[in-house]
Amino acid sequence: MKYISTRGGMSPIEFSETVFEGLAPDGGLILPEKIPQLSEEEVKKLKDLSYPDLALEIFKYFVGDISEEELKPIVLKAYSRFRHPEVAPVKKVDGLYILELFYGPTFAFKDIALQFLGELFEYLLIKSGKKINILGATSGDTGSAAIYGVRGKKNISIFILHPHKRVSEVQALMMTTVPDKNVFNLAIEGTFDDCQAIVKNIFMDLEFKKKFSLTAVNSINWARVLAQIVYYIWAYFRVSETEGERPVRFSVPTGNFGDIFAGYIARRMLGKERIERLILATNENDILARFVNRGDYSLGTVKPTISPSMDIQVASNFERYLYYLYEENPGRTKKAMEKFKKEGKLTFSKNEIEKVQKDFLAGSATEEDTLTTIKDFYRETGYLLDPHTAVGVKVGLEKKSSYPLICLATAHYSKFPNTVEQAIEKKIDLPEEIKRLYELPQRFEVLPADTTRVKEFVKVHASV
Ligand SMILES: *Cc1c(COP(=O)(O)O)cnc(C)c1O
Repeated sequence: MKYISTRGGMSPIEFSETVFEGLAPDGGLILPEKIPQLSEEEVKKLKDLSYPDLALEIFKYFVGDISEEELKPIVLKAYSRFRHPEVAPVKKVDGLYILELFYGPTFAFKDIALQFLGELFEYLLIKSGKKINILGATSGDTGSAAIYGVRGKKNISIFILHPHKRVSEVQALMMTTVPDKNVFNLAIEGTFDDCQAIVKNIFMDLEFKKKFSLTAVNSINWARVLAQIVYYIWAYFRVSETEGERPVRFSVPTGNFGDIFAGYIARRMLGKERIERLILATNENDILARFVNRGDYSLGTVKPTISPSMDIQVASNFERYLYYLYEENPGRTKKAMEKFKKEGKLTFSKNEIEKVQKDFLAGSATEEDTLTTIKDFYRETGYLLDPHTAVGVKVGLEKKSSYPLICLATAHYSKFPNTVEQAIEKKIDLPEEIKRLYELPQRFEVLPADTTRVKEFVKVHASV
């Protein structure tokens, strides 16, 4: 399999070349040349595999230049650190299925991709003798998952900026209690926006970027999307064990459109007769829900909510879907993205909206909806939802039909104890792994919100 750019300006590259890249050189996003469609025969072969074995088989369709013998230990290692033997168990709770994606080290679904990416990085770097320095800013979730993905890995150092005293206690502890020497936490005296601006400034210094092989691990990374395809296919098989072979729907709490885009690829691979449609659920930052329901893709301002990992207006993976909506026409995709950058708005024809609605259903949840859903679901079933998952459950139930509904649980409730306690009006007990964090020594460096100071720190501590 070779990879191309949504904007058409890149000659096809191999899978390994996509691993360290975010954007294609022409500013587009990287996509496989073709989406494989599984035959009945192939589906049958995949049905009863364990999670890591299924992952390996799915990856083989997309990874051309790493052999199966090389890939296998990477995949096995990546999924050996999950706290559940099935990696991503599917639980039936009342009338719906919950796909639990929070058994990785940081209790959120981003581990599923970043544990794989970390192993892949190390493997490719040892092979090439190169070193990288990962640099990123976080408001919570991504930073800790990235740190756990590469902690202790050879040829990699990681620098994660977070706003000092402005991330939740659990999220800060998850990052700062990691003892490995290749992990650097920078607590910036400022806001998350300051952190992001500093990272952006540093990446714009191309000489500095090159000298220290600075690498990002954002959600447009193709290998991250690839890792996420697996659990849709996995969950379809688990649910078909009780429901028989019939079409299902997935409800996906959505921010950057990375997770649900992986679902879109899974649907293309398995067919519409297995995944009927995907339900796109947003919080009050609802640009994507407006797009699906009315063809209105227009920028608003980001509003902070109790499901903070979905507080996004410009969904970085959206361009990938646009490319398929425009029938794989890179010229049109490029023009549309340029127009959006200029005008903050895209419009779609009636025909296009109809096409979108054959792939997705969508809705949004207000802050109150989210709290009520956590409360009601707990009262009725005894199952606790984290606020992101609650957004998906709320919208999923709203679109309830005769199709079995699978809701993605993207984080464990213990990551957001304050919100959950507010919703159910009682104290919750935290898992041992999280309680233990409070007793561990912390390592972080407090720095002013100043690009030069952060650069100096990176210069001194980078692996070169
Ligand atoms: C990142 C995140 C999301 C959103 O996923 P996208 O791929 O950005 O759409 C949802 N829930 C949680 C808990 C997350 O961390």
